[in-house]
Amino acid sequence: MTMKDRYGRTINYMRISVTDRCNLQCRYCMPDVNGHLPMDRLLTYEEIAFVCAQAASLGIDRFRITGGEPLVRKDCEVLVDLLKQVPGIRQVALTTNGVLLGEQLDGLTKAGLDAVNVSLDTLDRAQYRAITGRDELNRVLDSVYRAAGRLPVKINCVVQKGINEDAPVKLATLARELPLDVRFIELMPIGAGTDLETVPNTEVLAMIEEQYGKTVEDARPRGNGPAVYRRPDGFTGRIGFISAVHGKFCSTCNRMRLTSTGELKPCLCYGDTVPLREILRDGIAEKEERIRAKIREAVMMKPEAHCFEHRENVTEHRKMAQIGG
Ligand code: SAM
Ligand code: SF4
Repeated sequence: MTMKDRYGRTINYMRISVTDRCNLQCRYCMPDVNGHLPMDRLLTYEEIAFVCAQAASLGIDRFRITGGEPLVRKDCEVLVDLLKQVPGIRQVALTTNGVLLGEQLDGLTKAGLDAVNVSLDTLDRAQYRAITGRDELNRVLDSVYRAAGRLPVKINCVVQKGINEDAPVKLATLARELPLDVRFIELMPIGAGTDLETVPNTEVLAMIEEQYGKTVEDARPRGNGPAVYRRPDGFTGRIGFISAVHGKFCSTCNRMRLTSTGELKPCLCYGDTVPLREILRDGIAEKEERIRAKIREAVMMKPEAHCFEHRENVTEHRKMAQIGG
């Protein structure tokens, strides 16, 4: 079964936010920590798995667990295990800041986790502390070294003007030495990122090529997202570019988002959502069909494109940590 939206795009990928909490305070995402949601507002792992089973029956077959920081929610591997048992689910991946990944890696891989993305914006300790508010760089690097080779690993770096513009060249060394991809993501004008400035990926590529020489496009099968991959000569892994702002890729968007409070979110840029939590908890029968109808409704609500180039039209006013990135 495949599910198409109004613009003919196949929707087969869902990002699941399991918490709005985090153990870092990235300046573009969650610079302050007040106002977290009470646990009873969050979907339980069983409720999430139920929603995912309905989504899978409609053709959504790859899922990514995110947050906030997903690994600060207790027993994340239980959710991985539940999802891996759902018929029709082909891939369960995780996006994490990596701080707790090393210590949870065994449990997550045992549960069947298929891949992990680690968000890491710099290899410089002082810069890392300035961006995230914490001194955790060594722990994150330890996690990356432990995970590489055991699982497909991607490093995601958001490049901010005047903050870590010099980070890409050093971060790329991870893809030279280890079997992993390093990707650069343009900062989006969402939440605390609204007033900050991104570095266009064309400039990042120029910096990489100046240091490592001409790159060639890497045509191996891509992941679930819009990244374009290139490879400098002699690199083990690839360099990826997710040009969310300067390279609009909405025509190939394949995703739906599920927030930690159980709302389906058709597009990152707009605040519109389709709530599921009441249906999951109202005690009325035929939940499967009612949730499937809501998933179809959210797919049909997907807009043609984001409007990040006209910031005044962005209607999503929550922090990225509340949405899942
Ligand atoms: N805590 C986990 C992590 O950092 O990977 C998962 C949640 S985080 C919200 C997911 C991704 O969103 C991270 O890679 C982060 O860098 C990215 N992100 C957060 N705010 C962003 C923004 N305004 N523009 C672009 N990416 C952003
Ligand atoms: Fe936490 Fe991830 Fe947001 Fe950083 S980007 S504050 S690690 S949720």
